Amino acid sequence: MLLTGTGRLAPAGLSPWAIHVRDGRVAWVGDPRDAPGDEARVDIGQALVTPGLVDSHTHPVFAGDRSDEVAARLAGAPYTEGGILRTVRETRAADDATLEGLVEGRLRASLRAGTTTMECKSGYGLSLDEELRHLRIIGRVADRLPMRVVRTFLGAHAVPPGSTMAEYATHVADDMIPAVAAEGLAEFVDVFADAGFFDLEASERIGRAALAAGLGFRLHAEQLARTGAAELGVRLGAAAVDHLEELDDAGARALAASSTVTTLLPAPAIVMRDRLPPARALLDAGGTVALASDANAGTFGGFGTMPLVVGLGATLLGMTVTEALTAATEGGAAALRLADVGVLRPGAAADLVAWDAEHEGAFALRLGSVRSLRAWIAGEEVALSG
Ligand SMILES: [Zn+2]
Repeated sequence: MLLTGTGRLAPAGLSPWAIHVRDGRVAWVGDPRDAPGDEARVDIGQALVTPGLVDSHTHPVFAGDRSDEVAARLAGAPYTEGGILRTVRETRAADDATLEGLVEGRLRASLRAGTTTMECKSGYGLSLDEELRHLRIIGRVADRLPMRVVRTFLGAHAVPPGSTMAEYATHVADDMIPAVAAEGLAEFVDVFADAGFFDLEASERIGRAALAAGLGFRLHAEQLARTGAAELGVRLGAAAVDHLEELDDAGARALAASSTVTTLLPAPAIVMRDRLPPARALLDAGGTVALASDANAGTFGGFGTMPLVVGLGATLLGMTVTEALTAATEGGAAALRLADVGVLRPGAAADLVAWDAEHEGAFALRLGSVRSLRAWIAGEEVALSG
């Protein structure tokens, strides 16, 4: 099959363009006049076309609503682990069918808005049985949808009542991670390594258990305080460290010199009225940057907002539009250690989205209002409605 367009293919900036798709992968990209002539053609017309967006940081498995808490926080109340524990109580009380329906709605909203690959974390269970239940639910929903879904076990999201941090971290490392790995329920392990949550010693223990179990490792780092979690991620070879609102220049240099991807999450930073992560310093130092939504129960609730996140990268974070779009595609894929998605080049997955726009600058100009018109995953057009 040959996909062709008279509009713009971004971020490469090709126009007109053609993509030869074979067996779900890109076989060739170039000028339509040089394209193989005997292929069935699908003309996309003038629409802007990009790789499918990759949202490498989301928390979709939860029940309940915390918008009252956000209103209170914006009026001056502090952010504590109490908020997460409220969601844990409400999520534990939701039966499988209810939770599965909520997760499916969130993933469908993301797909409708152009996300073709999505990382989904557990982390509102905080017990062995509940965390396994949540990871299985993500798996069942993923089986029904055409999206590529990457699962992350975030048992260390907060300390459950009745445990100390050290006790619970030991339970996560010694009992929960081996159970997750044995059932093949996740590709990554994540830790909320921040002030008031898990300290560096506990986070390292969990990270080493993840690596020993053959799983990848990623960290929530430097969001609430500068703790050194970024350097811990580098030392353990984490796939990504995420947030980084409090990162300083030394931390930015350490990350940029490493193979650990830095994932920036501008949407919760705005809702939390936090400092903004140092995107420019990371990019200027040569680091690989991803942009993701961090859609979750308590600090940013927007599933299906990756077009907004690209726009926020290009405005609020001082990235160019090309840098922001690359961070939301190839950067997100790098954060998930997926070498063959997020970029339209020979050998890569034929995942692409056509937008109701002419130029990628629309993601900045029309903050949050660029709509996906059509999408293909592995060369197959997928339904965006429903
Ligand atoms: Zn998060």
